[in-house]
Amino acid sequence: MGEQSPVDLHCHSTASDGTLAPAEVVARAAERGVELLALTDHDSIDGLEEAAGAAQRNGVSLIPALELSVAFHGREIHLVGLGVDAGSAVLRAGLDRQQQAREERATEIGRRLAGKGIPGAEHGARILAAGGQVTRAHFARYLASKGHARNAGDAFKRYLRRGKAGYVPPPWPELTDGVGWLRDVGAVPVLAHPFRYRLSGAWLRRVLEAFKSAGGEALEVVCGTSTSREIEASVGHALRFDLAGSVGSDFHDPHNRWVELGRFGPLPAAVPPVWARWLPR
Ligand code: AMP
Ligand code: MN
Ligand code: MN
Ligand code: MN
Repeated sequence: MGEQSPVDLHCHSTASDGTLAPAEVVARAAERGVELLALTDHDSIDGLEEAAGAAQRNGVSLIPALELSVAFHGREIHLVGLGVDAGSAVLRAGLDRQQQAREERATEIGRRLAGKGIPGAEHGARILAAGGQVTRAHFARYLASKGHARNAGDAFKRYLRRGKAGYVPPPWPELTDGVGWLRDVGAVPVLAHPFRYRLSGAWLRRVLEAFKSAGGEALEVVCGTSTSREIEASVGHALRFDLAGSVGSDFHDPHNRWVELGRFGPLPAAVPPVWARWLPR
């Protein structure tokens, strides 16, 4: 048993690559004692309406949010946007572009895998996505189900990571533009899981510099898989770049025993919590 947080500002539903429906995510969060939750599907707000209903029934405060894919010098970076204005036309237009890019990328990934002797992957991934955003996680699950990899992580290693046969360079907007767009749609931009990008210290600082200059406001200091060294380093980055702190599990699937809603330690007191504005007062 790990520690339990009443705040979880990063998780996924079937609107993208999560395996639980939005209402199931919210109910599960409530069961685990989460009181303030942000549902952050990849490039989608399609789960928010269902989640909001469930939040009300379960006594959870829900922050409408998403996880936006952006690019920085050809590398994929993820921004959580907290508190989006779901009715904004600017939001709709941006999500349409993002979803179009996902569609085209899925076709291209499928083409590249077919070239490696694995036909039908695009179709297979789309069936697993079941109408939600098609992500590489769906390709990974498909590849594992067909015996091309031992599991999803292995499928990333063999086929889907940068440099592998099924990898397509990120079709996403520049990080700076993504931060500006999030602000335009009322969202607080948070740089997600800083240690998931396999960046050197110097490159991570470049990302943080660009993020802060563009109007970024917070760093995800504690994630579901953070080590204590990563948390310590993140605190240093947050202080150095004058960023607030966020926390989130990045929950996708109840069968992953390493990651659970609300299961992580507290944000260290040196960093101001980005969620203060959403606390009941
Ligand atoms: P995409 O946004 O389509 O590039 O897909 C990225 C998603 O794939 C991430 O949000 C994770 O959920 C998942 N993912 C990325 N890397 C791995 C990995 N090494 N093992 C398992 N899942 C991964
Ligand atoms: Mn994901
Ligand atoms: Mn992410
Ligand atoms: Mn995520």
